[in-house]
Amino acid sequence: MYDAIIVGARVAGAATAMLLARKGLRVLAVDRASFPSDTLSTHQIQVPGVAKLYEWGLLDRVVASGAPATRQVRFDYAGSAASPASGPGTAVDPGPAVLAGRFPEYRGVDALYSPRRTVLDKILVDAAREAGAEVRENFIVEQVGLAPGRVTGREKGGARVTESARLIIGADGKHSLVAQTAGAAVTGAKPVLSMACYSYWEGVPLTGGELCGRDRRALGAWPTNDGLTMVYQAWPIAEFESFRGDVEGNAMRTIDAGGELGERIRAGRRVERFRATPDLPNVVRKPYGPGWALVGDAGLVLDPITGQGIGHAFRDAQLLADAVSSGRPLHRALARYERVRNRATLPMFDFTAQLAALAPPGPEAALFAALAGRQEEIDRFFAMLAGVLPVKRFFSPPNLVRLVGLRGFARLAAGQRRPAPSPA
Ligand SMILES: Cc1cc2nc3c(=O)[nH]c(=O)nc-3n(C[C@H](O)[C@H](O)[C@H](O)COP(=O)(O)OP(=O)(O)OC[C@H]3O[C@@H](n4cnc5c(N)ncnc54)[C@H](O)[C@@H]3O)c2cc1C
Repeated sequence: MYDAIIVGARVAGAATAMLLARKGLRVLAVDRASFPSDTLSTHQIQVPGVAKLYEWGLLDRVVASGAPATRQVRFDYAGSAASPASGPGTAVDPGPAVLAGRFPEYRGVDALYSPRRTVLDKILVDAAREAGAEVRENFIVEQVGLAPGRVTGREKGGARVTESARLIIGADGKHSLVAQTAGAAVTGAKPVLSMACYSYWEGVPLTGGELCGRDRRALGAWPTNDGLTMVYQAWPIAEFESFRGDVEGNAMRTIDAGGELGERIRAGRRVERFRATPDLPNVVRKPYGPGWALVGDAGLVLDPITGQGIGHAFRDAQLLADAVSSGRPLHRALARYERVRNRATLPMFDFTAQLAALAPPGPEAALFAALAGRQEEIDRFFAMLAGVLPVKRFFSPPNLVRLVGLRGFARLAAGQRRPAPSPA
């Protein structure tokens, strides 16, 4: 009998296994994948997520993998090629804005890293094993039982086995079997809003992380392992069918429309295939019940346009491990886990959905124009995007009035929208 069985051993599952094992618990983590292996995900780890790796003693391994530190960030925004914002309440044409700044310092780190998932997930799985957790790879979970906790599955080609534990933790991603089996209540949801497409390029000079928003498209470029640049783009989900009719043509047209960043990408060379997906749900689930808990995307998944999922998974792995080992009645400790997770995530969940809608340009253009040239304010904007400055604080009425004035604030409030596309 284990203290905990964790289904899924990527960023949420392996981190949770490592932390519980470090606290002396008997832990089994299983995954149908073997490591290193890739998964459909780009991989910016926001500064708070990097701070967790540093705290856990794993940042050195990420650095040693060759994933470069990204300290600078640049956001080039022109809502439409023709620029003027149009529509009700948007009589102002502030024109395009280029915001360049740096990521904030936070708990001993000052950079974003973007290690490939082949690299990051293996580092975490190794760390879980080193901490004493048992990790079974190539293990497919077919059935989950709760209270008492049981997991039935088989290693690829092997016989079916059942293992038991006091607690079953679902770290099995956005289509979680554990969440389905538990009937975890959905406490918040938004429709799918965007689709994503990404690939890897060589020979693209970057100033740091670079983002570009144009005509309902978002484009992002981040340096990753092996001297490559990960190039991401998002389109409104309603256009997925037309996108997939000509993936390469559409992806290249988005790059061509991506201003000066697009030109630099074009001058480089794509070295991997395009990967595209419309499977980008926005769902919040109650993350616990008798004998079970959820962590990572299994409990809360949001559109990748703000690149928050990995950092959230790390934070929630820590919160969950602390709750499980707190010595307090488990139900109460897990109730607190849900409260803290929701308080920390829901404003970003809503903000992310606004970005992911990739709506036509509106009053937010005035906000970007107001930030331009004000370095301290630009850095605060990037601190908010990085998940360091609370979203609610940045978008508080006093802060917006300070930035765009009373009339600009009234337009923003009337539009009930916030800044437009900003890629993961
Ligand atoms: C296109 C895209 C781009 C993204 N970009 C970013 C980004 O830049 N930055 C960021 O922070 N986040 C990003 N994300 C989000 C990020 O990928 C997720 O938040 C993160 O992977 C969640 O980690 P997880 O461990 O919860 O789940 P997953 O990474 O999905 O891992 C779940 C694991 O569970 C295993 N599993 C599932 N079911 C079973 C079963 N029955 N038996 C055995 N094993 C099972 C799977 O094999 C898998 O390995 C992106 C997502 C997408 C789709």
